Amino acid sequence: MNSPTPTLDQTQDDLLERITPTGGERREILDPATGQLVGHAPVHGLDDLEAAVARAAAAQPAWAALGHERRSAVLLEAADAIDASAEALARILSREQGKPLNGPNARFEVGGASGWLRAAAATPLEAEVILDDGDVHAELHYRPIGVVGAIGPWNWPQMITVWQIGPALRMGNTVVVKPSEYTPLSVLALVEVLNTVLPAGVLEIVSGGREVGAALAAHPSIGKVMFTGSTSTGKAIIRSSADTVKRLTLELGGNDAGIVLPDVDPSAIAEGLFWGAFINTGQTCAALKRLYVHDDVYDAVVEALADVARAMPMGVGLDEQNVLGPLQNRQQFEIVDRLVEAAKRAGANVLVGGDPDRDGPGNFYPTTLVEVADHDLGLVQEEQFGPALPIVRYHDVDEAVALANSVDVGLGASVWSSDLVEARRVAARLEAGTVWINAHGAIHPMVPFGGAKQSGYGLEFGVEGLKALGVPQVING
Ligand code: NAD
Repeated sequence: MNSPTPTLDQTQDDLLERITPTGGERREILDPATGQLVGHAPVHGLDDLEAAVARAAAAQPAWAALGHERRSAVLLEAADAIDASAEALARILSREQGKPLNGPNARFEVGGASGWLRAAAATPLEAEVILDDGDVHAELHYRPIGVVGAIGPWNWPQMITVWQIGPALRMGNTVVVKPSEYTPLSVLALVEVLNTVLPAGVLEIVSGGREVGAALAAHPSIGKVMFTGSTSTGKAIIRSSADTVKRLTLELGGNDAGIVLPDVDPSAIAEGLFWGAFINTGQTCAALKRLYVHDDVYDAVVEALADVARAMPMGVGLDEQNVLGPLQNRQQFEIVDRLVEAAKRAGANVLVGGDPDRDGPGNFYPTTLVEVADHDLGLVQEEQFGPALPIVRYHDVDEAVALANSVDVGLGASVWSSDLVEARRVAARLEAGTVWINAHGAIHPMVPFGGAKQSGYGLEFGVEGLKALGVPQVING
């Protein structure tokens, strides 16, 4: 008799079993939608970090010696491995992070992880002839850095890990990953899948807390840290990396503004505005977090957006109908709750939501739209990082631009208009790393992405992203 084809759940269980620690300290990881056990993550410490860095350093010369073409081939095979385990990876991600399988969520994230890895593998990077005038022949090359540290957040744990490790590996570095303590299983599972293809030591993972991240950022054998997370942690990493003059790419917090100009068709942009703000239930660095709407179209835009918001199902991630999920952790739930409650006390008008069930089950905070007159409210000034969008009415575009630029972060921004020329003119005035027109947060593996102001520095994706994982070397002569 043939053995039965494994079901998707068995595959997921197999993968969870492979990453479950057999000894040492371990910790329970609970589903933020239900409180049920998802699995156990190892609690690695500083000795584990030392061992992982040593293995990565030992593996690096042979990995670099493979050259671009052979490394790219290995990385494409690793992307195939992600595709082959895509459903299991998506289910573990959904249960641990909370994001639904469907919508721009878990399956989308796993697809992004594979797609970005393919792009990092396939993007050509040729040496550039900088000057060749008869006297001087100067070429710019990029050498591997050595061992790279990759420290990640809990909101898009698998995709962001690939953003960090894909270009690092492609450029001949080996990597030690330190996932967020909130979502270690998603990243352990991803690394487990990638390591079915990669040579031993090329990709290491240390599943520890903040102290392990801090030690990685200070480690003398780490040449560069790729960090995605909050601005305050980014500042700590700058400090701990200073003594060894590490290279850094810092993708930090945002508080993105969207400006709706008076010539829009409200019903045509409502769904784009919704997903710009509420993708991943608002837990997205470059999500629309402050919406400025011109007086002329204010009522119509707000009404159209509220209609979309009310129709989007929120619930347990594994339920196929949902497109919004819980907040990943209680701390984040409390931040959103505190900011909305303070706005209410200050007289802001809640149009949709704002009434969470604080006794659970799960960290569900409802989709919330708040009309705000006072721009100094915390809900506007702080990165709320959840499903609560403040909406501000404006009369004059100069005023909207000034308000959009008034915070000290600048990751993304957007301008919404039927007039592309005017939209581009407004876009050029916004202090943000990316300004989208009639969209928000639409990223692409070949288009560079990075922050302005305290949203960080360095670019990811495309050729610029590869260059950031190499040491520039000029060969002159
Ligand atoms: P966080 O800064 O709390 O943690 C991120 C990672 O840093 C975790 O792995 C954590 O263990 C580690 N860490 C904590 N203290 C450290 C230290 N002193 N030294 C080294 N590592 C340390 O961020 P989070 O709450 O997980 O993620 C949410 C934040 O990330 C939001 O601000 C969001 O905007 C930002 N983010 C930015 C981008 C981007 O591309 N710019 C993308 C996603 C998330």
